Amino acid sequence: MKFKEMPYKRVDYDKTAEQFKTLTKRVKEAKSGEELWEIHQEYYKVYQNMMDSMTIAEIRHDGNTADPFYAAEKDYYDETAPMLSSLATDYQRALYESPYRSFMEEKIGKVAFATMDNAIKSMDESIIGLMQEENALTTQYNKLIASAKIPFDGQVCNLSLLRPYLTGNDRTVRRQAWKAYSDYFMTVADELDDIYDKLVKNRTAQAKAMGYDNYIQLGYYRMNRNSYDRNDVENFRRQVKEVFVPFAERVHEIRRKRLGLEKLSYIDNEVYFKEGNPDPVGTAQEILESGQKMYAELSPETKEFFDFMMENELFDVFGRKDKKQGGYMTYLYQYHSPFIFANFNGTNADVNVLTHEAGHAFEAYTASRNIPVLSQTFSTAEISEIHSMAMEYFTLPWMHLFFGENAEKQKKAYLWDSLEAMPYMACVDEFQHRVYAENLTDAMERRKVWHELEKIYLPWRDYDGNEFLGQGGFWMQKQHLFMCPFYYIDYAVSRVGALEYYGKMQEDLESAWKDYYALCRQGGSKGYHELLRIGNLSDPFKEGTIYNALKKLNLI
Ligand code: ZN
Repeated sequence: MKFKEMPYKRVDYDKTAEQFKTLTKRVKEAKSGEELWEIHQEYYKVYQNMMDSMTIAEIRHDGNTADPFYAAEKDYYDETAPMLSSLATDYQRALYESPYRSFMEEKIGKVAFATMDNAIKSMDESIIGLMQEENALTTQYNKLIASAKIPFDGQVCNLSLLRPYLTGNDRTVRRQAWKAYSDYFMTVADELDDIYDKLVKNRTAQAKAMGYDNYIQLGYYRMNRNSYDRNDVENFRRQVKEVFVPFAERVHEIRRKRLGLEKLSYIDNEVYFKEGNPDPVGTAQEILESGQKMYAELSPETKEFFDFMMENELFDVFGRKDKKQGGYMTYLYQYHSPFIFANFNGTNADVNVLTHEAGHAFEAYTASRNIPVLSQTFSTAEISEIHSMAMEYFTLPWMHLFFGENAEKQKKAYLWDSLEAMPYMACVDEFQHRVYAENLTDAMERRKVWHELEKIYLPWRDYDGNEFLGQGGFWMQKQHLFMCPFYYIDYAVSRVGALEYYGKMQEDLESAWKDYYALCRQGGSKGYHELLRIGNLSDPFKEGTIYNALKKLNLI
């Protein structure tokens, strides 16, 4: 079914709550493993119905945050979702404690129980009020950012439509655009600080109510991490510092020379050629059509997947005013349909976001058809970002479809960009660890910490007299800090795996694709380390893996 034809009906809170309660009671009273399995399949149905309605409302709200109908739906779910989530956790707790658990482990896998354990550790009835407030705050944040009205070049831009000017070829225009960008953040800084303060206090209060010292442990449980802890992450960041910071410094120096500049300024960020980065040729619709041709040539399985996406119009990728910023993939269970959301703005980022989200969508499409057990469809983020990032590399040979004669330039720009981003990701991660560990609720204190960390992770960055950004204001533009705490490092952890695939592609494309496809087919049915083994990948947390990935590509 085409997305626009999918009917929407609000989740009836009372009815769904009653269903969860009845199912929980039945689990507690179950007399056999078989009975439990039957109940659990009913639970999946209730859960899928609920999730699909919420997801349809969310996609339509994100597409136009000013639409009053879906804004009201969003407010309704901000309020009811934590209560429903608490009831779903009660159900999971009953299943987790059931005497027939081992029978269920056979049916739905051990990982499903590790996930339940994390869900139980991160949910309690007593924090529903705080969770509702947290939802309202993130919605407020999204509305604020989506409604940005930045006057530039004779028009009014939102953040994504300003983006082409920030990386354009004319340095004077770039400078003006960056000024408009930082002026915008300066005008909303008080409001953003206020929202973030409240979020930090709120999340810390949730953690304390659940018996944790601060939000870090709770945040890790909510990210459903069950194979590594904050010490492993700290050790990973250290390796990024040792390997990627000096590497990125060298790459920036080469870039400076290529751009013919005496010194690099922040306005040259992500600009790789003097004549500007290559732009995709053709309209947004033509980008999707080129995508269809590319996926038809890449493999029979990607052809089937992308044809399905096109036929059912499972995209909302064109940039518009009042649209939520950023890109994501989500999934509609009853339609077995992934959905891709993005903000195309005519830059090469359009193609990167398409191949990235298509990697997630390909996994969702493949795993949900290979293993129909709901709890096994999706892996945790440090695996799922390999699905998306490796797809970015697998599609590089088709860049001529999007960039014509500039295809080689695009490949270079993409590769440099993908590698240079590593220190920034670690910087964002260390920043939020410090925010929650030190309870940084003072706006100026936070900027000082960001500024300190920039010196360690991004020592080349020169804000060229821009006072606001030069004094630590840059963190404010990072959506993940507001919306999904502790997510960001997953991009860096997964990048190592994606780079390994890139290395393998140079040697044997077919076997690299085979390993990648095997990983996608397994979804989240196995634990982290087992999935790495299935995908034929090294453990990125192990000392030396980061170094070896770059070494193999002859980059160090
Ligand atoms: Zn992703």
